[in-house]
Amino acid sequence: MTREEEKRLIVLAAIIRLGGDGTKNQVLDEIERAELMKFSPSDLEQCATRDELYWRNDLAQIRRHLAAEGYISNQKWNHWLVTETGRSHFASLASRLGSQRQFHHFNPVALAAVTALASNHQISDDNALSGETALVEGQQTQRWTNTYERSPQLRAAAIRVHGLVCMGCGFNFETKYGAIGAGFIEVHHTKPISSLGGAASVDPTSDLVVLCSNCHSIVHRKRPSPLSLEALRTLVKNPA
Ligand SMILES: [Zn+2]
Ligand SMILES: [Zn+2]
Repeated sequence: MTREEEKRLIVLAAIIRLGGDGTKNQVLDEIERAELMKFSPSDLEQCATRDELYWRNDLAQIRRHLAAEGYISNQKWNHWLVTETGRSHFASLASRLGSQRQFHHFNPVALAAVTALASNHQISDDNALSGETALVEGQQTQRWTNTYERSPQLRAAAIRVHGLVCMGCGFNFETKYGAIGAGFIEVHHTKPISSLGGAASVDPTSDLVVLCSNCHSIVHRKRPSPLSLEALRTLVKNPA
């Protein structure tokens, strides 16, 4: 795999992790967050001509190459949207990861995650609440799904806004379990799906809350619509 191909793989993996599209900053931030790239000292230097780190400017060039070949849509400014052929390109690059002995840019710690991403075209996330999809009810007004709860982009936004402490009971995974719990929390969306107009319309401040696994399970025991955060807090304070 050439250096160019490694960089293409990194860019495409980040976009697909975000659910298929994002702004330049969202994509580049996702690369950092998911540790997709190994940075050399020169990558982290400031560009000579602009106020940007070298690697960010470099990957913006790679996006141009991908767009020129139809792997990323070029229709909207600052909107990096992977196309169907872009997904195939990603899958074929990812299928060659296993035979690569050394990487120049790709961070091998992300190998398993990227291979999994390519094999199911789906984000492997740690917020899959078993049975939650079964909560989708037939009636339009009462449909709930975990679509938005599983979006890595919205997850990150919810954690930025609300932090990592359960809003129902105050539980913190790192405090309880140490390092392995660091950064873990589940994201719950509080609005029925029919009232939403897509991921872009979800306001993480008002529409998403962070909950520990116990509280998240409990709010979804109430059907068809989950318990509100207020009702959950009342229960936690006074179970009777
Ligand atoms: Zn809780
Ligand atoms: Zn939920």
